[in-house]
Amino acid sequence: MKTSLTGIKPTNLPHLGNYLGAIQPALSLVDEYRTLYFIADYHALTTVRDAEALRGHIRDVAATWLACGLDPERTLLFRQSDVPEVFELTWVLSCLLATGQLERGHAYKDALSRGESPSAGLFNYPALMAADILLYDTDIVPIGKDQKQHLELTRDVAMRLNHIYGDDTLVVPEALISQAPLVRGTDGQKMSKSKGNGIPLFEPPKKLRKSIMSIKTTSEGLEDPKAAEGSTVYDLYALVAPERALQMKQKLASGGYGWGHAKEDLFQAIEAEIGPKRDAYLAMRADEEQLDAILHAGADKARQIARATIQRVRSAVGID
Ligand code: AMP
Repeated sequence: MKTSLTGIKPTNLPHLGNYLGAIQPALSLVDEYRTLYFIADYHALTTVRDAEALRGHIRDVAATWLACGLDPERTLLFRQSDVPEVFELTWVLSCLLATGQLERGHAYKDALSRGESPSAGLFNYPALMAADILLYDTDIVPIGKDQKQHLELTRDVAMRLNHIYGDDTLVVPEALISQAPLVRGTDGQKMSKSKGNGIPLFEPPKKLRKSIMSIKTTSEGLEDPKAAEGSTVYDLYALVAPERALQMKQKLASGGYGWGHAKEDLFQAIEAEIGPKRDAYLAMRADEEQLDAILHAGADKARQIARATIQRVRSAVGID
């Protein structure tokens, strides 16, 4: 069975876009691949400067994935920082990466173009990401189109290491380009934590409802026929309740069905999907001991794979 690896940054409370665009598609890979999902807490340090918030987000993310159906018996769920071997590999890879490759990194270039003074951590993070992937003999990395560059860098450095030190040292991973939908937020733009247009996943139903009622729509009257195409309310409904999407489309087209009605139907559909998961999330989030035990058990198993990789790398480069 091939290995698939996904990193999750614990920087925010997941929104509906994360659920439909990342969590659901990732969980659907479990039957086909040996799956490893790690919480990228060291990556979060490039932006999070609040220790208590980071501690909280790590558990928020773990509880979210478990509540959404991750089975820790089938998927290794662990914290990046519980496998310190990742730094050893980061260093070895850094010695093979050209600074020019890192200078071309999207995140680094974006920070420069915003006039910021990026940290060395942000500059180097593609090296840490390559180590995250290569440490676990990963065959497949599910990614969005915008992440192609990082995987190319990972493949490049793995091939370089194998070329110099021996072909069997590292597994060279392949990208699995995500077919996941792009989920739009309340303003019609891509849902994003930084834009304030997110529909919350596990906030109380009242807040969920308020957020859905704030979705921008056109301004036809109640009796007017309305076009489903291009409407955020309809698009979201089609993602959450695809079997009933045609029905909503017809109701909109025939008039007498307002955007308020459509939003109410969307709220009901989302609540039916995530309400039970919210209850599971709240129960899991409250039991921190149990959450930490799951993460540690995952790390123990992940570390066995990591140790074997590091042994191969050490011996290949001449540090045994
Ligand atoms: P982020 O919240 O930006 O760190 O994204 C985490 C994951 O959620 C990534 O795999 C994204 O592709 C996915 N994601 C984030 N926002 C959306 C969105 N609006 N639509 C679909 N997927 C998303």
